[in-house]
Amino acid sequence: MNSALETLRREFGGDIVEPGGEGYESARRSVLVSGSPACVLRPTSVADVQAGVRFAVAAGLLLSVRGGGHGFPGFGTNDGGVVIDLSRLASVQIVDKERHLVRIGGGATWGQVAAVLAPHGLAISSGDTKSVGVGGLTLTGGIGWKVRKYGLALDSVVAAEVVTAGGEVVQASADENPELFWAIRGGGGNFGIVTAFQFVAHATTDVFHGRIAFPASEASGVLQGWADHLRNAPEELTSVASFANPFAGGPEAPVEIWVAFDGDNPELAAEALDPIRRLGTVIDDDVALKPYADTLVDGMAPPPGIRLVTRSAFADQENVSEVLRILAEVGASERSPFIAVRSVGGAVARVPGDATAYAHRRAEVMLMTTVAGPEPVVEAARPALEAIWARLAPHVDGAYANFLASATEEDVAAIYPTRTYDRLAAIKRRYDPGNLFAQNHNVRPQE
Ligand SMILES: Cc1cc2nc3c(=O)[nH]c(=O)nc-3n(C[C@H](O)[C@H](O)[C@H](O)COP(=O)(O)OP(=O)(O)OC[C@H]3O[C@@H](n4cnc5c(N)ncnc54)[C@H](O)[C@@H]3O)c2cc1C
Repeated sequence: MNSALETLRREFGGDIVEPGGEGYESARRSVLVSGSPACVLRPTSVADVQAGVRFAVAAGLLLSVRGGGHGFPGFGTNDGGVVIDLSRLASVQIVDKERHLVRIGGGATWGQVAAVLAPHGLAISSGDTKSVGVGGLTLTGGIGWKVRKYGLALDSVVAAEVVTAGGEVVQASADENPELFWAIRGGGGNFGIVTAFQFVAHATTDVFHGRIAFPASEASGVLQGWADHLRNAPEELTSVASFANPFAGGPEAPVEIWVAFDGDNPELAAEALDPIRRLGTVIDDDVALKPYADTLVDGMAPPPGIRLVTRSAFADQENVSEVLRILAEVGASERSPFIAVRSVGGAVARVPGDATAYAHRRAEVMLMTTVAGPEPVVEAARPALEAIWARLAPHVDGAYANFLASATEEDVAAIYPTRTYDRLAAIKRRYDPGNLFAQNHNVRPQE
């Protein structure tokens, strides 16, 4: 490692943070998981990223890539390896005003993107949290407040600049390396380090956004009515139902229907939102017209020692009702995890299932459960959690990689159906035959 490190020191223009050095204590942590890497590299240029990749290969060290650092499994750090932290590659530039083309550094966060785009009346459908990274969220999906109108975040990507395992810089788009372009839209960090994305942003007005809350006792009817309404609602409406929130009373916590109506016309917004208000006894309603950028919340990092176990799946139209029935029952029980159900469909479903490496286009909702706490609390909750997922299993399908704290073979199979996986494995063989980029929901190079 020593001679590799000497070469790196000569070539590298960014920060090299080592154990005992200044800033190591914070650099070793991703947002949700702590590690003890041999070094954390913060490149400031594409050439630095190339040098970092060459260093990891020459030193024979495990390599983690960190975008915004919010990945649930903690792939953004490791023990004893190299972390390439992209946070200094975070510029956001509107490169073509007419076509709304935006170039975004691979380490930018959605808050940084929204801050640059908002004054121009532009937005990209992303997620709900400012500190989440563009890299991790986009490479495996991106379900945000405009998902039913504009699709996943990855559906707005038109090109990317990628540093491969061989340390080369390649462009990926519909015209250049189209197979790589297909793979990075769903296949995660398996194919290289994306140093810059090019997105098409969308014109945005202010939007109606907020929360309509109902008593926990009305969960069952509210959830069924919510799903029925969303099925035929205008695509301007995107919504998330969340309940059994341990921070708001657990099983007694109100059912919260979060809504975003993509438009500033009050009559049209009321038409889309009033049927939700009529689903039960409204105990709180703070829906208001606000800039799209203000719908994004600040992320918070849990204190060290707190683990988050998040698990997800999809349900299609035939199964939504049964899934919501089970979840309403589970949510009322003593040991319920936090549950959230996100509407998808709309523009997501209009993209053919094999157009990108994100395969879950037919789903009507994405559901997730989260248990958080110190290790013993999380372990104690595990049997109840397993029992819930065993009940859900006959009615759900797949998994959403971005809301998955584990990375078993079953998880990878749930994210990537066989046809998708096989195509990704063939592309992996071309761009990363030695599986350098393995700290992810890993696709192994085809043999
Ligand atoms: C508080 C919170 C809110 C969230 N809200 C949403 C939401 O609204 N919608 C949604 O869809 N998801 C959401 N997520 C999930 C989120 O999309 C994932 O956690 C995602 O992995 C975070 O990306 P990141 O870049 O911040 O994380 P990181 O941990 O930095 O990245 C995760 C992995 O992605 C890969 N990666 C990241 N950047 C690059 C890059 N530039 N090049 C190559 N590989 C890269 C690496 O393999 C990396 O290990 C949320 C998560 C949290 C914790």
